Amino acid sequence: MAVLEDPLKKVLGDRTAQALTKTFGMKTVEDLLRHYPRRYVTRGEMSDISKLIEGDEVTILAEVKAVKIRRANGRVILDVHVGDGSDTMSLTFFNQAWREKELKVGVTGMFAGKVGSFKGVRQLSHPDYQLIPDGNDVDSAVDDFAGKYLPVYPAGGKLPSWKLEQSIGIVLDSLDEIPDYLPREIADEFGYPTLREAFFAIHKPKSREEAEVARERLTFDEAMLLQLLLAQRRAELRALQATPRSISTNGLVSIFESRLPFKYTSGQIEINSEIEMDMKQAHPMHRLLQGEVGSGKTVIALRAMLSVIESGGQAALLAPTEVLAQQHFKTISKLLGDLALAGTLEGNGEGTQLALLTGSLPTNLKKDSLSRIANGEAGIVIGTHALLSEGVEFNDLALVVVDEQHRFGVEQRDALRMKAKLPPHLLVMTATPIPRTVAMTIFGDLDVSTLRQLPSGRSPITTHVIPVLEKPHYLDRAWERIKEEVGKKHQAYIVAPRITAPEVDESKNKITQADIDMARLMGDEITSEELNGEGMVSVEELAPRLATGALKGLKLAPLHGKQSAELKEETMAAFSSGEIEVLVSTTVIEVGVDVPNASMMVIMDADRFGVSQLHQLRGRVGRGSVPGLCLLVTAAEEGSPAMERLTAVAGTLDGFELSRIDLDQRREGDVLGRAQSGTKSHLRLLRVLRDEDLIEKARSVSLRLIEDDPTLSSFPTLAHEVSLLKAEESSEFLDKG
Ligand code: ADP
Ligand code: MG
Repeated sequence: MAVLEDPLKKVLGDRTAQALTKTFGMKTVEDLLRHYPRRYVTRGEMSDISKLIEGDEVTILAEVKAVKIRRANGRVILDVHVGDGSDTMSLTFFNQAWREKELKVGVTGMFAGKVGSFKGVRQLSHPDYQLIPDGNDVDSAVDDFAGKYLPVYPAGGKLPSWKLEQSIGIVLDSLDEIPDYLPREIADEFGYPTLREAFFAIHKPKSREEAEVARERLTFDEAMLLQLLLAQRRAELRALQATPRSISTNGLVSIFESRLPFKYTSGQIEINSEIEMDMKQAHPMHRLLQGEVGSGKTVIALRAMLSVIESGGQAALLAPTEVLAQQHFKTISKLLGDLALAGTLEGNGEGTQLALLTGSLPTNLKKDSLSRIANGEAGIVIGTHALLSEGVEFNDLALVVVDEQHRFGVEQRDALRMKAKLPPHLLVMTATPIPRTVAMTIFGDLDVSTLRQLPSGRSPITTHVIPVLEKPHYLDRAWERIKEEVGKKHQAYIVAPRITAPEVDESKNKITQADIDMARLMGDEITSEELNGEGMVSVEELAPRLATGALKGLKLAPLHGKQSAELKEETMAAFSSGEIEVLVSTTVIEVGVDVPNASMMVIMDADRFGVSQLHQLRGRVGRGSVPGLCLLVTAAEEGSPAMERLTAVAGTLDGFELSRIDLDQRREGDVLGRAQSGTKSHLRLLRVLRDEDLIEKARSVSLRLIEDDPTLSSFPTLAHEVSLLKAEESSEFLDKG
């Protein structure tokens, strides 16, 4: 009999065990049991090929008639022609030529996926499948399957789904009694099976309901372990020491506020005081500040930074790009005026100094920044990841502000925190609004403040989709509109997805397997054009074309990440001052850039961008008193998922709603991020949006448990399981170096 920790080879024999290790990284019985079916198929649900309707999720029973491998732009495409007597169709796999070995002519299997079409031929792209093993005659095999819920597993290498089913069957047959880490009373409360029962039910369900309850219990487990881990982290953070920082009645903060050219919104007032309260504590603040682009987060952060300077501390503002760091430096210099010039003749006695530190700063300036950071003269240090490097020493780092969290890893956040004597207070800002359960799951160790209103005086942004396939002349109209805006002394952005055209920059343009998989998950067809990026607009091609064509006579300049820092800087400065009227750029302008005079944005190949990204981008216009106009140019077809996405963006300015759509579409692969990637066993089923209810439930159960018993001493198996999840997370942290 086997237990969960047993090595696979004890139960399965060397060859299979080795294949499982090689293909999936599985080592133990538990690893295999946690390889859950992706779905189940039943004979009754099978469709005739002749009756398939495009867009439907179907399962067919068919025989392989022909197999062809072709290459397109360095991709290997496996085309499998199958038939079921009613008709034939094709199955397509990208970069999975190894499937040729199992999808041999004459083999019969069940294939499940979404019906698409390519060049008029119906196809399933990357279908899940379950082959009927050699030697079984099809009729009896199918009869066997009739009424049975047959699991379809994520397959790979030499391990087709049926082989996995077989191995899991063997493991289940020899499975001993196993301890259940979920306390019995909790399982009972929700009507959940035991862990052992759940493994049986998810792999060999007798009914769909049974499979569903098992899956729910296993998903709940994941949510609960994660919540317990987060609850423990919070408790650990509470136990850390930090220097309390408080604001005096007529210090730097008061002087700064007395000069602000505007009144705080009520949201800003509220969050200012939350932060003030946090930083008065003797343990570090961990706060996430979320708010739309332009909602006024920077002032809040600045106030917090000034407040630590009052007690001799320093604040570091970490920005994701050089452009943004420079922007912040300028904005903050301007907002502070002579308060940022301490130690100079023009300086204010109560003030401080700013220091900028980015990778491309000339050596002499870098040296100067470094010494002012080290001796404490610079109260506010603004920089990119260069701030994290070894040579940077602070006199008394009191507060770390991280701008645009989604581009910073936890590791980086931690690296900066290491530079302080006591853990500094932490404020993380993000303009991508995060639904509550996501925040709870991902940032469970942070308190969350949300700015919901924009400062008054903001102009609305109107967004339209320009479908160039159906209405090519709309694009000409877009260029006309830019001319009109510039005629009114306004400015415009044109955003393109690429820097260079494909011929020039072939290597950077490879669509990865991940892209293909993602496209497939989203139900997109993958065309050969997309495989090599043909037809995608690039900055280097578009800028000169417009300058000599549709936008002739306007002052237009390109901006992209491959330009030198000086050139980027110069270009941004010229755009800020209005010298450049039209900026043709990549997404380097995505976050933080603030040119209130810009009233219009045209986004080329808008379907290339994610929902949140588009929302961020368009936040660049309508920042002043002029209403903003954003045009999303796309060759996506009417009714395609890409078009639906763009229509959603055009249809609402509600960032929360959009971030939901975005997360939904990305399947949150990168929301749970590191934790969910790879072959680790602890977070496989949980999806933060779909499982909102479960997460809420898990959270309240976890809080209850931790409150009664902070170390979970009366639930040793549960405590152990949480520690495994924790170890998994920190080992991945180490992996990343
Ligand atoms: P965010 O960082 O959230 O994108 P910013 O802090 O850059 O937004 O604010 C956008 C613009 O609004 C800036 O020019 C800022 O000076 C201005 N602003 C901030 N708060 C207010 C306010 N309460 N009233 C008017 N303008 C404000
Ligand atoms: Mg900002």
